[in-house]
Amino acid sequence: MKKTIAFLLLLFLETQVNAWGFWGHQRINRIAVFLLPPEMISFYKENIDFITEHAVDPDKRRYSIAEEAPRHYIDLDHYCTLPCDSMPHRWKDAVAKYSEDTLKAYGIVPWHIQTMMYRLEDAFKAKDKQKILRTSADIGHYIADSNVPLHTTENYNGAQTNQVGIHGFWESRIPELFGEDYDYFIGKAEFVAKPSERIWATIMESHRALDSVFGFEKQISQSFPADTKYAFDTRGVTTSKMYSEEYTLAYSKMMDGMVERKMRRSIKMVADIWFTCWVNAGSPDFKKIETHQHTAQEQEEMEAEEKAWKEKKKAMYGHPHAETGSEGVK
Ligand SMILES: [Zn+2]
Repeated sequence: MKKTIAFLLLLFLETQVNAWGFWGHQRINRIAVFLLPPEMISFYKENIDFITEHAVDPDKRRYSIAEEAPRHYIDLDHYCTLPCDSMPHRWKDAVAKYSEDTLKAYGIVPWHIQTMMYRLEDAFKAKDKQKILRTSADIGHYIADSNVPLHTTENYNGAQTNQVGIHGFWESRIPELFGEDYDYFIGKAEFVAKPSERIWATIMESHRALDSVFGFEKQISQSFPADTKYAFDTRGVTTSKMYSEEYTLAYSKMMDGMVERKMRRSIKMVADIWFTCWVNAGSPDFKKIETHQHTAQEQEEMEAEEKAWKEKKKAMYGHPHAETGSEGVK
């Protein structure tokens, strides 16, 4: 048993990250359904389990598709310092200034959300049920990622500031511990006239929050002795090292509800964008939307993603993915 614990602890030395953890992504997509207008809500409610469950597909896909990784973030600090006015918002302008290869190397989330908007609009126009659901679930994921401050920096997991583990701490451990008590009364979906502006405003807001995200953790860390900073959790044969509850609470308090605010904003934006795509597609009547089963090809794709993810997870023990708050802790 001792051996197992020692081995498992080794697993947390390095990490890849995954915004909001699985819990957060699923919760964001699920709650967004309830903000939709009457014309849309029945369809989405009927399919709420699909929308919820598939909120994490884009992260799973990173194990099977090479182009997937940069769709989840943008390392803004590679290009500029705040207020970052020099950053071109249009894809074409950004390519002209930095080259496509560079953009892909440092993340494309703001543009990918727009690509996905066109896809969702097309799915509505085609009245294709499966495509609407899959694209809605996917776009919810990318929107939620864009609201996470740590998805806008090269220092995404604190490696440059001796804060390794901060990614999973912020986006998974905090919402998993306190997210059930957040206020999810968020209002109604609204039409977004200028999606690009909204997306970039979100990215900039995420980026501006980094000061607090890093600064507060540093402060808290200095006032907590190491033995109270972490806790160990044993479930079955697995022992996880994670940030202790007191430490997590102290950090969350110091940020004054930032994680809750970001989660609420993610939910609102997901609903706004779903609604906007539907309006832009001419507000199709959901009663006329085709209910076809997944085609053999769609089914195969989904199964391949799931399989690659499961196999990779097994094979990647040295590089765990921060799907829960206990992962990625050094
Ligand atoms: Zn992601």
